[in-house]
Amino acid sequence: MVIRVFSVFVVLFLSIGAARGAEIALTGATIYTTPVAQPIPNGVIVVTDGKVTAVGARASVKVPPAAEIIDCTGRVITAGFWDAHVHFMHRIWADGATIPAATLGAQMQDTFTRYGFTAVFDVSSILENTIALRKRIDAGEMPGPRIFTTGFALMPANPQLPTAVYESMGWMPMTPPEIADPAAADAAVNTALNSGADAIKLFISAPSKSTHSPKVIEAATAEAHRLGAPVFVHPNSNADIIAAAENGADIIAHTTPLSGPWDDAVLSAMEDRDVALVPTLWLWKYLVRNAPQARQDAVVETELAQLRAWIARKGTVIFGTDYGAVKPGPAEDYALMAAAGMSFRDILASLTTAPAKRFGRGADLGQIAPGFTADLVVLKEDPTPDVRKLADVQFTLRDGKMIYRAP
Ligand SMILES: [Zn+2]
Repeated sequence: MVIRVFSVFVVLFLSIGAARGAEIALTGATIYTTPVAQPIPNGVIVVTDGKVTAVGARASVKVPPAAEIIDCTGRVITAGFWDAHVHFMHRIWADGATIPAATLGAQMQDTFTRYGFTAVFDVSSILENTIALRKRIDAGEMPGPRIFTTGFALMPANPQLPTAVYESMGWMPMTPPEIADPAAADAAVNTALNSGADAIKLFISAPSKSTHSPKVIEAATAEAHRLGAPVFVHPNSNADIIAAAENGADIIAHTTPLSGPWDDAVLSAMEDRDVALVPTLWLWKYLVRNAPQARQDAVVETELAQLRAWIARKGTVIFGTDYGAVKPGPAEDYALMAAAGMSFRDILASLTTAPAKRFGRGADLGQIAPGFTADLVVLKEDPTPDVRKLADVQFTLRDGKMIYRAP
């Protein structure tokens, strides 16, 4: 698959790392340079002009005399986190070009940066609005994560979306495009990618039971890949996953616990095409929270079994919350991923190296190494014994600039 090289935006540095040539040094933390390397105790990271220029044990890294020191003694540092399943569809994000900067900055903090998210992938929203948000962050108007977006998901014809409930969900009114045939898929993919989208999202089936035909999925993925963009899919069933994987999709954006366990046909279709899975385990638990306990238990059991089976096949897992359908905050997802058998390091890979690689940024994001962009998370404490601690963030840095500082 061809992966688009995403645009690298110029970021105006607001405070730390503000001037050209500015150096900072984060000292004293345990550093996980990658999810697989041995952690460096009492380490030092030197950042120059937003890039990591040195990382190692305190004894072996020289701290430049002019560097601003950020004392991280007792903390744990990892590469910046990705949330690869979010939506900017709540009305708090509407009129993205004109939301007061302080308000928008506070929203970005409460939703993303306080949890260490330095990159988020929006997988259905109003494209122009999400791009307006992205432009303001990248211009340095307020701190926030890197935003990648698919724009509107492409729906099957006559989807009968429950638009009447958007108001009660707090969502903006919106009308995603409906795709009737392969020619329409081709046109919609071109329109989105030529208008600033970074990827394509397909809703494989709709509430009306209308479903994208294999030819439509194939046309959309072929055109997206030709233009260097990956394709996310929202499956509602195991059959949707098979159709998506067999026709070229790259990222399965949910498990499907409402349609029963994954059999060999589902898992083999995913494995054969090397898709990545975004499990969104908390989403399903949240959606059935008012159901009888036995139903809740069955849904959680099924989603854990699906993720467990995918891990057993050594499949790629990418972290995502489905913020927009659930409240902000990844701790419940971390706990559920651990319950499915993922270690702290496995979850860290899903937050860092796996998304960076899948989205074509493996050479500059996802690791802490000389030459890499200084997107960093400083955790309050070691998450090894309790993965929920991955959500307890002291500092978040993007491009070497502090974009969140815990009170
Ligand atoms: Zn979603």
